[in-house]
Amino acid sequence: MKILVPVKRVIDANVKVRVKSDASGVELANIKMAMNPFCEIAVEEALRIREAGHAEEVVVVSAGASQSQETLRTGLAMGADRGILLECEHDPEPLAVAKLLKAVCDKEQPGLVILGKQAIDGDNNQTGQMLAALLGWPVATFASRIEVRDDGFRVTREVDGGLEAVVTKRPAVITVDLRLNEPRYASLPNIMKAKKKPVDKYAPADLGVDITRRTEVLKVVEPPSRKAGVKVSSAAELVDKLRNEAKVI
Ligand code: AMP
Repeated sequence: MKILVPVKRVIDANVKVRVKSDASGVELANIKMAMNPFCEIAVEEALRIREAGHAEEVVVVSAGASQSQETLRTGLAMGADRGILLECEHDPEPLAVAKLLKAVCDKEQPGLVILGKQAIDGDNNQTGQMLAALLGWPVATFASRIEVRDDGFRVTREVDGGLEAVVTKRPAVITVDLRLNEPRYASLPNIMKAKKKPVDKYAPADLGVDITRRTEVLKVVEPPSRKAGVKVSSAAELVDKLRNEAKVI
């Protein structure tokens, strides 16, 4: 089985995001970028499935600017076998990403596509579901455990208030949640080795995909800053304030 892992380049999760002064988006100039944390978990799971002998090859794929190649190299340094860069002039929307990935699946015929449940920049939580719909494949979202079976997968999903187990046939799309695993760090020798691993490049037009945006971002604003709190001297004063000032009880 071949496993395809789509990975997105996003602002590093530890960076404090700043909105641009013209409110057109967030500041990306000179900002540290990294692989989306949920994609790291997806890469880790794909590697574990390969290491357990259920897959022969793990292919990482990223759609975006040419710098997305750095994100592919991170996946290759973790242990993926090769990469595919889908070079786009602008950040593609989830539907465009899903169409690009569908074209890659048609070429590569993976038995499993494993993605993050969401990218922490746009918080869309759409790509895996859209890809599965375009492919006509089953999808299991928010996986916290994945077992490979002879003809498919058994996926434990985190749902409100508990866990749900589902089985899917192969091929399938699975999106991963935070508690599935702890991604490994790439060692220095593996970072060096990753530089030699093959990365194929395609433009959307090579795959016959139109990535024209269908939505327009009108404005991005910072959340309102929090007002300072007050200290109360007794529980009675707190109750009085909640009842008569905040009027919440
Ligand atoms: P989203 O639907 O944007 O929240 O993203 C969910 C998942 O889809 C991510 O964790 C990635 O695995 C994948 N994905 C989204 N955008 C891209 C992209 N531009 N390139 C590769 N994978 C992507």
